[in-house]
Amino acid sequence: MRVIDGRRVNTQVAGRDFKYYVFDWDDNILHMPTRIYLEKLCDDGVWRPASVSTSTYSLVRGDSAHYRLPRNGGRAAAFRDFQDVPGDIANQSFIRDTKAALRRIAAGETPGPSFETMRKTLREGRIFAIVTARGHAPETIREAVRLFIDSALTPAEREEMMANLRGYRWWLDNRTTFGTDAEELDYYLSMCRYHAVTSPGFKERMADDADFGARVAAATSERRPELAKEFAIRDFVEHLVHMLERTGGLELRRPMSVGFSDDDSGNVNAVSEYIRDELARRFGSVKFVVYDTSDASLANGRKVTVAGQLDLPGF
Ligand SMILES: [Mg+2]
Repeated sequence: MRVIDGRRVNTQVAGRDFKYYVFDWDDNILHMPTRIYLEKLCDDGVWRPASVSTSTYSLVRGDSAHYRLPRNGGRAAAFRDFQDVPGDIANQSFIRDTKAALRRIAAGETPGPSFETMRKTLREGRIFAIVTARGHAPETIREAVRLFIDSALTPAEREEMMANLRGYRWWLDNRTTFGTDAEELDYYLSMCRYHAVTSPGFKERMADDADFGARVAAATSERRPELAKEFAIRDFVEHLVHMLERTGGLELRRPMSVGFSDDDSGNVNAVSEYIRDELARRFGSVKFVVYDTSDASLANGRKVTVAGQLDLPGF
C-alpha cells in the first residue's frame, strides 16, 4: 500500500492475475422476490393462473405439460415484473426487489451461492459482467450493483475496494492523481458490463450481429435466452481483451481467466458447450471456468467446465 495524491493506493494489484467474472443475478447472487406469472395444469385438468419464484421457474421452464405462459398476454404478461417502466430509476421493480433481497440478507437470510464471490470481486476491484435473462436497462442493473456495494460491503471493505481501484488506475492507466471516491467508483462501474438479455437494446444488438442474428431468429423460445447469454459472454470477453490491449495489460501475458456462474442448469450446459465449441478456440489463452450454482446448499456452486490452455508459454 502506498499513499499517492494523498490517497491510499494498493500498488500491489500490479502483480495480480487477470481474473474476471460473469454473474447471473437471480438466485445466483441474490434471491429476489420477483414473481413470474404462469398458468399451471391442475389435477382437475384446468389451467389456472400460478405465479412462481425465479428459482422454481428455472426448474419448470421445460415442463410444458404442467406449466405454460398465460393464454392472455403470453411471455410479456408472464415476465411483466422483469422489465423497466417509464420513469425514475428508484421506482423500477428491479431496484425495489434488490433492496428487499439485501434487507433480508442483512436480517440473516442465506444469500445466493455466488454472493460471496460477488463481494470478493467488488472488494478486489475486478471487472465483472452481470448477465441476466431480465429485460431492464443497463443503468438499472448498474444502480442495483451500487446498492449491493452500499449494503453488502462493510465500510472497511469499501475502503479496501477504493484502494484497489486506485491501484488499477495507477498501474494500467498511469494515473498519479485521482478523482473523488464517487468518480473513481463511477469509472470502475462503467468498465463493467450489465446485460439484461431480453431488454429491447440487447435484442436489437443481437439481431444485428453477423453470427448470432440468424441463430436467434431460428431459435425456439426456450433456446433464445441461452443463446442470448452466450452472446453476452462473447461480448464481455471481447471487451476484456480490448481493454487489456488498450492498457498494455495483454503484453504482460499474465494468465487470464473468466468465470461464469448461473443457477439454471440449462444455461450452464448451453454456455459450457458454447465455450468449448467456440470461445475456447477463439480465445485460446483464456481459461474458462463455469460454476453450476443450482444446488443452493453448495457455496460457490459446482465447477463444471474448465476450458482453454492452463499452461501458457512462459509461465
Ligand atoms: Mg438465475
